[in-house]
Amino acid sequence: MDLQYSASDRDFRQQARAWLAANVPTKRRPANGHTSAQYDRDWQRKLYEHGWAGVAWPKEYGGLGLTGLQQVIWYEEMARARAPHYINTTYVALMHAGPTLIMRGTEEQKAFHLPRILSGDALWCQGFSEPNAGSDLASLKARGTIDGDDIVVSGAKMWTTDAQHADYQELLVRTDPESHRHKGLTWIICDMKSPGIDIKPIRTMLNDEHINMVFYDDVRIPKSNVVGEIDGGWASALATLSLERGLGFIGDQLELYERVGRATDMAGKLRLEDGTLAIDDSSIRQKLAALKADALAIRAMTLADIAETDRTGQPGPKGSMMKLLVTSAHKALSELVGDMMGWDFLEFDGDRSAHPWTYDYLWSWVFSISGGTNEIQRENIADRVLHLPRAR
Ligand SMILES: Cc1cc2nc3c(=O)[nH]c(=O)nc-3n(C[C@H](O)[C@H](O)[C@H](O)COP(=O)(O)OP(=O)(O)OC[C@H]3O[C@@H](n4cnc5c(N)ncnc54)[C@H](O)[C@@H]3O)c2cc1C
Repeated sequence: MDLQYSASDRDFRQQARAWLAANVPTKRRPANGHTSAQYDRDWQRKLYEHGWAGVAWPKEYGGLGLTGLQQVIWYEEMARARAPHYINTTYVALMHAGPTLIMRGTEEQKAFHLPRILSGDALWCQGFSEPNAGSDLASLKARGTIDGDDIVVSGAKMWTTDAQHADYQELLVRTDPESHRHKGLTWIICDMKSPGIDIKPIRTMLNDEHINMVFYDDVRIPKSNVVGEIDGGWASALATLSLERGLGFIGDQLELYERVGRATDMAGKLRLEDGTLAIDDSSIRQKLAALKADALAIRAMTLADIAETDRTGQPGPKGSMMKLLVTSAHKALSELVGDMMGWDFLEFDGDRSAHPWTYDYLWSWVFSISGGTNEIQRENIADRVLHLPRAR
Protein backbone atom coordinates (compact mmCIF):
# COMPACT_ATOMS: atom_id res chain seq x y z
CA MET A 1 0.00 0.00 0.00
CA ASP A 2 1.34 3.42 -0.95
CA LEU A 3 0.86 5.79 1.98
CA GLN A 4 1.57 8.91 -0.06
CA TYR A 5 -1.57 10.64 -1.27
CA SER A 6 -1.66 10.56 -5.05
CA ALA A 7 -3.22 13.34 -7.11
CA SER A 8 -6.35 11.20 -7.49
CA ASP A 9 -6.52 10.64 -3.68
CA ARG A 10 -6.33 14.39 -3.11
CA ASP A 11 -8.95 14.89 -5.77
CA PHE A 12 -11.14 12.26 -4.10
CA ARG A 13 -10.82 14.05 -0.74
CA GLN A 14 -11.91 17.33 -2.32
CA GLN A 15 -14.91 15.68 -4.00
CA ALA A 16 -15.94 13.89 -0.78
CA ARG A 17 -15.51 17.07 1.28
CA ALA A 18 -17.52 19.19 -1.16
CA TRP A 19 -20.32 16.63 -1.44
CA LEU A 20 -20.57 16.14 2.33
CA ALA A 21 -20.54 19.90 2.97
CA ALA A 22 -23.52 20.28 0.64
CA ASN A 23 -25.45 17.15 1.65
CA VAL A 24 -24.97 16.29 5.34
CA PRO A 25 -28.45 16.69 6.84
CA THR A 26 -28.89 19.82 8.90
CA LYS A 27 -31.79 18.24 10.76
CA ARG A 28 -30.75 16.37 13.92
CA ARG A 29 -31.19 12.59 14.02
CA PRO A 30 -34.21 11.77 16.23
CA ALA A 31 -33.03 10.16 19.46
CA ASN A 32 -35.10 7.01 19.27
CA GLY A 33 -37.75 4.91 17.65
CA HIS A 34 -38.86 4.39 14.06
CA THR A 35 -38.21 8.01 13.11
CA SER A 36 -34.50 7.48 13.86
CA ALA A 37 -34.44 4.34 11.67
CA GLN A 38 -36.20 6.27 8.91
CA TYR A 39 -33.60 9.05 9.22
CA ASP A 40 -30.84 6.44 8.72
CA ARG A 41 -32.64 4.90 5.72
CA ASP A 42 -33.05 8.37 4.16
CA TRP A 43 -29.35 9.18 4.63
CA GLN A 44 -28.33 5.83 3.13
CA ARG A 45 -30.72 6.39 0.19
CA LYS A 46 -29.15 9.80 -0.40
CA LEU A 47 -25.63 8.30 -0.39
CA TYR A 48 -26.86 5.61 -2.80
CA GLU A 49 -28.56 8.00 -5.20
CA HIS A 50 -25.48 10.21 -5.36
CA GLY A 51 -23.11 7.26 -5.89
CA TRP A 52 -21.51 7.19 -2.41
CA ALA A 53 -22.93 3.91 -1.03
CA GLY A 54 -20.79 0.92 -0.04
CA VAL A 55 -17.35 2.53 0.22
CA ALA A 56 -15.69 -0.82 1.05
CA TRP A 57 -17.77 -2.93 -1.35
CA PRO A 58 -16.44 -4.13 -4.71
CA LYS A 59 -17.79 -2.32 -7.79
CA GLU A 60 -19.30 -5.52 -9.20
CA TYR A 61 -21.72 -5.55 -6.24
CA GLY A 62 -22.68 -1.91 -6.57
CA GLY A 63 -20.06 -0.53 -4.16
CA LEU A 64 -17.51 2.18 -4.79
CA GLY A 65 -14.58 -0.25 -4.93
CA LEU A 66 -12.40 2.32 -3.15
CA THR A 67 -8.78 1.63 -2.29
CA GLY A 68 -8.02 1.24 1.41
CA LEU A 69 -6.50 4.72 1.55
CA GLN A 70 -9.59 6.26 -0.07
CA GLN A 71 -11.82 4.52 2.50
CA VAL A 72 -9.71 6.16 5.20
CA ILE A 73 -10.16 9.52 3.46
CA TRP A 74 -13.93 8.97 3.28
CA TYR A 75 -14.30 8.20 7.00
CA GLU A 76 -12.04 11.14 7.91
CA GLU A 77 -14.18 13.46 5.83
CA MET A 78 -17.37 11.98 7.35
CA ALA A 79 -16.00 12.77 10.82
CA ARG A 80 -14.93 16.27 9.74
CA ALA A 81 -18.36 17.02 8.27
CA ARG A 82 -20.13 15.50 11.30
CA ALA A 83 -22.12 13.31 8.93
CA PRO A 84 -24.70 10.95 10.48
CA HIS A 85 -22.77 8.31 12.39
CA TYR A 86 -22.02 5.13 10.49
CA ILE A 87 -22.90 2.99 13.55
CA ASN A 88 -26.64 3.52 13.20
CA THR A 89 -29.42 1.15 12.13
CA THR A 90 -27.72 0.62 8.72
CA TYR A 91 -24.47 -0.59 10.35
CA VAL A 92 -25.01 -4.38 10.46
CA ALA A 93 -26.30 -4.48 6.87
CA LEU A 94 -23.47 -2.45 5.38
CA MET A 95 -20.50 -3.42 7.52
CA HIS A 96 -21.01 -7.16 7.98
CA ALA A 97 -24.20 -8.76 6.58
CA GLY A 98 -23.64 -7.51 3.01
CA PRO A 99 -19.89 -8.29 3.04
CA THR A 100 -20.63 -11.79 4.49
CA LEU A 101 -23.05 -12.42 1.58
CA ILE A 102 -20.39 -11.20 -0.86
CA MET A 103 -17.93 -13.70 0.65
CA ARG A 104 -20.22 -16.68 1.22
CA GLY A 105 -23.73 -16.09 -0.20
CA THR A 106 -25.31 -17.68 -3.27
CA GLU A 107 -25.75 -15.68 -6.47
CA GLU A 108 -29.53 -15.45 -5.77
CA GLN A 109 -28.92 -14.16 -2.23
CA LYS A 110 -26.47 -11.55 -3.51
CA ALA A 111 -28.76 -10.44 -6.35
CA PHE A 112 -31.72 -9.99 -4.00
CA HIS A 113 -30.14 -8.54 -0.87
CA LEU A 114 -27.09 -6.48 -1.88
CA PRO A 115 -28.94 -3.73 -3.82
CA ARG A 116 -31.54 -3.44 -1.03
CA ILE A 117 -28.78 -3.00 1.56
CA LEU A 118 -26.94 -0.35 -0.45
CA SER A 119 -30.11 1.66 -1.09
CA GLY A 120 -31.15 1.63 2.58
CA ASP A 121 -34.33 -0.31 1.77
CA ALA A 122 -33.27 -3.25 3.96
CA LEU A 123 -32.00 -2.91 7.52
CA TRP A 124 -30.39 -5.93 9.21
CA CYS A 125 -29.70 -7.06 12.77
CA GLN A 126 -27.38 -9.71 14.18
CA GLY A 127 -28.82 -12.72 16.05
CA PHE A 128 -25.73 -14.48 17.37
CA SER A 129 -25.64 -13.97 21.17
CA GLU A 130 -27.97 -15.81 23.55
CA PRO A 131 -28.59 -15.50 27.30
CA ASN A 132 -25.83 -18.11 27.91
CA ALA A 133 -23.76 -17.66 24.76
CA GLY A 134 -21.94 -14.35 24.28
CA SER A 135 -18.16 -14.58 24.51
CA ASP A 136 -18.57 -18.34 24.30
CA LEU A 137 -20.69 -18.19 21.14
CA ALA A 138 -20.09 -21.86 20.29
CA SER A 139 -22.30 -22.85 23.25
CA LEU A 140 -25.44 -21.43 21.58
CA LYS A 141 -28.64 -23.46 21.83
CA ALA A 142 -31.31 -21.90 19.54
CA ARG A 143 -32.54 -24.90 17.56
CA GLY A 144 -33.12 -25.22 13.82
CA THR A 145 -34.96 -28.40 12.79
CA ILE A 146 -34.83 -29.39 9.13
CA ASP A 147 -38.36 -29.99 7.83
CA GLY A 148 -38.62 -30.50 4.06
CA ASP A 149 -37.51 -27.29 2.35
CA ASP A 150 -37.58 -25.30 5.59
CA ILE A 151 -35.60 -24.90 8.79
CA VAL A 152 -37.91 -24.48 11.79
CA VAL A 153 -36.31 -22.26 14.45
CA SER A 154 -37.10 -22.19 18.18
CA GLY A 155 -35.23 -20.50 21.01
CA ALA A 156 -34.06 -17.05 22.08
CA LYS A 157 -31.43 -14.49 21.13
CA MET A 158 -30.09 -11.79 23.44
CA TRP A 159 -28.85 -8.19 23.03
CA THR A 160 -30.07 -7.96 19.43
CA THR A 161 -29.37 -4.34 18.45
CA ASP A 162 -32.15 -2.70 16.40
CA ALA A 163 -34.16 -5.94 15.97
CA GLN A 164 -37.34 -3.83 16.05
CA HIS A 165 -36.26 -1.88 12.95
CA ALA A 166 -34.61 -4.69 11.00
CA ASP A 167 -36.03 -6.33 7.90
CA TYR A 168 -33.54 -9.24 8.00
CA GLN A 169 -31.29 -10.92 10.51
CA GLU A 170 -27.98 -12.78 10.48
CA LEU A 171 -29.25 -15.76 12.51
CA LEU A 172 -27.01 -18.50 13.90
CA VAL A 173 -28.72 -21.71 15.09
CA ARG A 174 -27.86 -25.31 16.01
CA THR A 175 -29.19 -27.55 13.25
CA ASP A 176 -27.54 -30.76 14.43
CA PRO A 177 -28.99 -31.52 17.89
CA GLU A 178 -26.23 -34.09 18.56
CA SER A 179 -23.46 -31.62 17.79
CA HIS A 180 -21.08 -29.92 20.21
CA ARG A 181 -19.52 -26.52 20.24
CA HIS A 182 -18.91 -24.95 16.81
CA LYS A 183 -19.96 -28.05 14.84
CA GLY A 184 -23.59 -28.43 13.68
CA LEU A 185 -24.38 -24.68 13.48
CA THR A 186 -26.07 -22.93 10.53
CA TRP A 187 -26.04 -19.23 9.48
CA ILE A 188 -29.45 -18.29 8.03
CA ILE A 189 -31.01 -15.14 6.61
CA CYS A 190 -34.10 -14.65 8.76
CA ASP A 191 -36.93 -12.42 7.53
CA MET A 192 -37.86 -10.46 10.67
CA LYS A 193 -41.51 -10.29 9.58
CA SER A 194 -41.81 -14.13 9.76
CA PRO A 195 -44.66 -15.46 11.94
CA GLY A 196 -43.45 -16.71 15.36
CA ILE A 197 -40.91 -13.92 16.06
CA ASP A 198 -41.47 -11.91 19.22
CA ILE A 199 -39.23 -8.93 20.05
CA LYS A 200 -38.96 -7.68 23.64
CA PRO A 201 -37.06 -4.40 24.14
CA ILE A 202 -34.46 -3.96 26.90
CA ARG A 203 -34.18 -0.42 28.29
CA THR A 204 -30.57 0.72 28.74
CA MET A 205 -28.77 3.52 30.57
CA LEU A 206 -28.68 5.33 27.20
CA ASN A 207 -32.37 5.82 27.99
CA ASP A 208 -33.42 4.00 24.86
CA GLU A 209 -34.57 0.59 23.72
CA HIS A 210 -32.07 -0.14 20.98
CA ILE A 211 -31.30 -3.67 22.21
CA ASN A 212 -33.76 -6.54 22.49
CA MET A 213 -34.44 -10.13 23.37
CA VAL A 214 -35.83 -12.00 20.36
CA PHE A 215 -37.91 -15.16 20.80
CA TYR A 216 -38.52 -17.70 18.02
CA ASP A 217 -41.50 -20.02 18.21
CA ASP A 218 -41.42 -22.51 15.30
CA VAL A 219 -40.30 -19.85 12.81
CA ARG A 220 -40.14 -21.37 9.31
CA ILE A 221 -37.22 -20.21 7.18
CA PRO A 222 -36.59 -21.61 3.67
CA LYS A 223 -33.39 -23.66 3.33
CA SER A 224 -32.47 -21.42 0.38
CA ASN A 225 -31.72 -18.73 3.04
CA VAL A 226 -28.74 -20.68 4.39
CA VAL A 227 -25.45 -18.82 3.91
CA GLY A 228 -22.67 -21.39 3.48
CA GLU A 229 -23.44 -25.00 4.44
CA ILE A 230 -26.12 -26.47 6.68
CA ASP A 231 -24.23 -27.57 9.84
CA GLY A 232 -21.19 -25.70 8.53
CA GLY A 233 -22.26 -22.23 9.67
CA TRP A 234 -19.23 -21.62 11.90
CA ALA A 235 -17.16 -20.68 8.83
CA SER A 236 -19.78 -18.08 7.84
CA ALA A 237 -20.01 -16.85 11.46
CA LEU A 238 -16.22 -16.40 11.56
CA ALA A 239 -16.42 -14.43 8.31
CA THR A 240 -19.05 -12.13 9.90
CA LEU A 241 -17.07 -11.75 13.14
CA SER A 242 -13.81 -11.05 11.34
CA LEU A 243 -15.56 -8.28 9.40
CA GLU A 244 -17.11 -6.89 12.59
CA ARG A 245 -13.88 -7.07 14.62
CA GLY A 246 -11.69 -6.21 11.64
CA LEU A 247 -12.47 -2.93 9.97
CA GLY A 248 -16.06 -2.82 11.32
CA PHE A 249 -15.05 0.05 13.61
CA ILE A 250 -12.84 1.92 11.16
CA GLY A 251 -15.05 5.02 11.40
CA ASP A 252 -14.50 5.21 15.17
CA GLN A 253 -10.78 4.68 14.73
CA LEU A 254 -10.53 7.64 12.39
CA GLU A 255 -13.10 9.83 14.15
CA LEU A 256 -11.06 9.71 17.35
CA TYR A 257 -8.64 12.39 16.09
CA GLU A 258 -11.54 14.78 15.34
CA ARG A 259 -13.07 14.12 18.74
CA VAL A 260 -9.81 14.82 20.59
CA GLY A 261 -9.68 18.08 18.58
CA ARG A 262 -13.22 18.99 19.67
CA ALA A 263 -12.38 18.21 23.32
CA THR A 264 -9.26 20.41 23.02
CA ASP A 265 -11.35 23.27 21.59
CA MET A 266 -13.77 22.84 24.46
CA ALA A 267 -10.89 22.92 26.98
CA GLY A 268 -9.93 26.30 25.54
CA LYS A 269 -13.35 27.75 26.42
CA LEU A 270 -14.56 25.86 29.49
CA ARG A 271 -13.91 27.07 33.04
CA LEU A 272 -13.40 24.50 35.79
CA GLU A 273 -15.16 24.84 39.16
CA ASP A 274 -12.27 26.94 40.56
CA GLY A 275 -12.55 29.35 37.61
CA THR A 276 -9.39 28.14 35.79
CA LEU A 277 -9.66 27.63 32.07
CA ALA A 278 -9.56 23.84 31.54
CA ILE A 279 -6.67 24.08 29.04
CA ASP A 280 -4.56 25.84 31.70
CA ASP A 281 -4.78 22.78 33.96
CA SER A 282 -1.55 20.84 33.31
CA SER A 283 -3.10 17.44 34.01
CA ILE A 284 -5.89 18.05 31.46
CA ARG A 285 -3.37 19.34 28.93
CA GLN A 286 -1.16 16.28 29.33
CA LYS A 287 -4.10 13.91 29.00
CA LEU A 288 -5.29 15.67 25.83
CA ALA A 289 -1.77 15.48 24.38
CA ALA A 290 -1.53 11.75 25.19
CA LEU A 291 -4.93 11.14 23.57
CA LYS A 292 -3.88 13.05 20.47
CA ALA A 293 -0.78 10.82 20.24
CA ASP A 294 -3.02 7.74 20.71
CA ALA A 295 -5.36 8.94 17.95
CA LEU A 296 -2.43 9.41 15.55
CA ALA A 297 -1.02 5.97 16.46
CA ILE A 298 -4.45 4.38 15.92
CA ARG A 299 -4.70 6.09 12.53
CA ALA A 300 -1.27 4.74 11.53
CA MET A 301 -2.23 1.23 12.71
CA THR A 302 -5.53 1.46 10.81
CA LEU A 303 -3.57 2.17 7.62
CA ALA A 304 -1.27 -0.80 8.33
CA ASP A 305 -4.32 -3.00 9.02
CA ILE A 306 -5.96 -1.94 5.75
CA ALA A 307 -2.73 -2.61 3.87
CA GLU A 308 -2.58 -6.11 5.36
CA THR A 309 -6.25 -6.77 4.55
CA ASP A 310 -5.66 -5.57 0.96
CA ARG A 311 -2.65 -7.89 0.67
CA THR A 312 -4.20 -11.04 2.17
CA GLY A 313 -7.77 -10.48 0.90
CA GLN A 314 -9.29 -10.90 4.36
CA PRO A 315 -9.22 -9.14 7.73
CA GLY A 316 -6.59 -10.57 10.09
CA PRO A 317 -6.45 -10.98 13.90
CA LYS A 318 -5.01 -7.46 14.33
CA GLY A 319 -8.62 -6.22 14.31
CA SER A 320 -8.67 -7.28 17.98
CA MET A 321 -5.80 -4.85 18.68
CA MET A 322 -7.62 -2.01 16.95
CA LYS A 323 -10.88 -2.72 18.80
CA LEU A 324 -9.10 -2.82 22.17
CA LEU A 325 -7.09 0.36 21.53
CA VAL A 326 -9.95 2.42 20.16
CA THR A 327 -12.42 1.40 22.91
CA SER A 328 -9.81 2.18 25.59
CA ALA A 329 -9.00 5.60 24.07
CA HIS A 330 -12.73 6.30 23.63
CA LYS A 331 -13.30 5.60 27.34
CA ALA A 332 -10.30 7.72 28.44
CA LEU A 333 -11.46 10.67 26.30
CA SER A 334 -15.04 10.58 27.60
CA GLU A 335 -13.79 10.34 31.18
CA LEU A 336 -11.57 13.38 30.64
CA VAL A 337 -14.54 15.32 29.24
CA GLY A 338 -16.57 14.26 32.33
CA ASP A 339 -13.78 15.69 34.53
CA MET A 340 -13.85 18.96 32.56
CA MET A 341 -17.62 19.40 32.34
CA GLY A 342 -18.44 18.11 35.82
CA TRP A 343 -20.11 14.78 36.37
CA ASP A 344 -23.65 16.12 36.48
CA PHE A 345 -23.27 15.90 32.68
CA LEU A 346 -24.47 12.33 33.22
CA GLU A 347 -28.05 13.57 33.57
CA PHE A 348 -29.26 12.41 30.19
CA ASP A 349 -32.62 12.46 28.42
CA GLY A 350 -31.56 10.10 25.62
CA ASP A 351 -31.00 12.78 22.98
CA ARG A 352 -27.62 11.94 21.47
CA SER A 353 -27.49 14.95 19.17
CA ALA A 354 -28.20 17.41 21.99
CA HIS A 355 -25.74 15.78 24.45
CA PRO A 356 -23.04 14.14 22.32
CA TRP A 357 -20.41 13.92 25.08
CA THR A 358 -22.80 12.29 27.56
CA TYR A 359 -23.88 9.82 24.92
CA ASP A 360 -20.22 9.11 24.11
CA TYR A 361 -19.43 8.44 27.76
CA LEU A 362 -22.34 6.01 28.16
CA TRP A 363 -21.57 4.44 24.78
CA SER A 364 -17.92 3.89 25.78
CA TRP A 365 -19.16 1.15 28.16
CA VAL A 366 -21.22 -0.51 25.41
CA PHE A 367 -18.32 -0.25 22.99
CA SER A 368 -16.00 -2.28 25.23
CA ILE A 369 -18.55 -5.17 25.33
CA SER A 370 -20.48 -5.34 22.06
CA GLY A 371 -18.70 -7.06 19.17
CA GLY A 372 -16.61 -9.02 21.72
CA THR A 373 -15.44 -7.78 25.12
CA ASN A 374 -12.03 -6.21 25.72
CA GLU A 375 -11.03 -9.29 27.77
CA ILE A 376 -11.77 -11.51 24.75
CA GLN A 377 -9.84 -9.17 22.44
CA ARG A 378 -6.86 -9.48 24.83
CA GLU A 379 -7.15 -13.28 24.64
CA ASN A 380 -7.22 -13.08 20.82
CA ILE A 381 -4.15 -10.83 20.78
CA ALA A 382 -2.25 -13.15 23.15
CA ASP A 383 -3.20 -16.20 21.13
CA ARG A 384 -3.38 -15.14 17.50
CA VAL A 385 -1.13 -12.07 17.24
CA LEU A 386 1.57 -12.72 19.87
CA HIS A 387 1.29 -16.54 19.76
CA LEU A 388 1.81 -16.77 23.53
CA PRO A 389 1.47 -20.21 25.14
CA ARG A 390 -2.04 -21.04 26.34
CA ALA A 391 -2.67 -21.23 30.09
CA ARG A 392 -4.81 -24.35 29.63
C1 LIG B 1 -25.24 -2.88 23.85
C2 LIG B 1 -24.94 -4.24 23.29
C3 LIG B 1 -25.34 -4.55 22.00
C4 LIG B 1 -25.11 -5.82 21.50
N1 LIG B 1 -25.58 -6.12 20.25
C5 LIG B 1 -25.53 -7.40 19.82
C6 LIG B 1 -26.16 -7.76 18.60
O1 LIG B 1 -26.74 -6.94 17.90
N2 LIG B 1 -26.14 -9.05 18.22
C7 LIG B 1 -25.51 -10.01 18.95
O2 LIG B 1 -25.51 -11.17 18.53
N3 LIG B 1 -24.89 -9.70 20.12
C8 LIG B 1 -24.90 -8.42 20.57
N4 LIG B 1 -24.30 -8.08 21.76
C9 LIG B 1 -23.72 -9.14 22.56
C10 LIG B 1 -22.23 -9.06 22.77
O3 LIG B 1 -21.54 -9.57 21.65
C11 LIG B 1 -21.94 -9.88 24.04
O4 LIG B 1 -22.51 -9.16 25.12
C12 LIG B 1 -20.48 -10.08 24.29
O5 LIG B 1 -19.94 -10.97 23.33
C13 LIG B 1 -20.22 -10.62 25.70
O6 LIG B 1 -20.98 -11.78 25.94
P1 LIG B 1 -21.88 -11.94 27.27
O7 LIG B 1 -22.70 -10.70 27.41
O8 LIG B 1 -22.57 -13.26 27.20
O9 LIG B 1 -20.86 -11.96 28.48
P2 LIG B 1 -20.02 -13.20 29.01
O10 LIG B 1 -19.44 -13.94 27.87
O11 LIG B 1 -20.85 -13.93 29.99
O12 LIG B 1 -18.84 -12.46 29.76
C14 LIG B 1 -18.97 -11.87 31.05
C15 LIG B 1 -17.58 -11.33 31.44
O13 LIG B 1 -16.63 -12.42 31.51
C16 LIG B 1 -15.53 -12.15 30.64
N5 LIG B 1 -15.07 -13.38 30.00
C17 LIG B 1 -15.84 -14.33 29.40
N6 LIG B 1 -15.06 -15.31 28.89
C18 LIG B 1 -13.77 -14.95 29.14
C19 LIG B 1 -12.50 -15.51 28.84
N7 LIG B 1 -12.40 -16.68 28.15
N8 LIG B 1 -11.39 -14.87 29.25
C20 LIG B 1 -11.46 -13.69 29.93
N9 LIG B 1 -12.65 -13.10 30.26
C21 LIG B 1 -13.77 -13.71 29.86
C22 LIG B 1 -16.08 -11.20 29.60
O14 LIG B 1 -15.07 -10.46 28.97
C23 LIG B 1 -17.02 -10.34 30.42
O15 LIG B 1 -16.31 -9.32 31.09
C24 LIG B 1 -24.45 -6.81 22.29
C25 LIG B 1 -24.03 -6.48 23.59
C26 LIG B 1 -24.27 -5.22 24.09
C27 LIG B 1 -23.83 -4.91 25.50
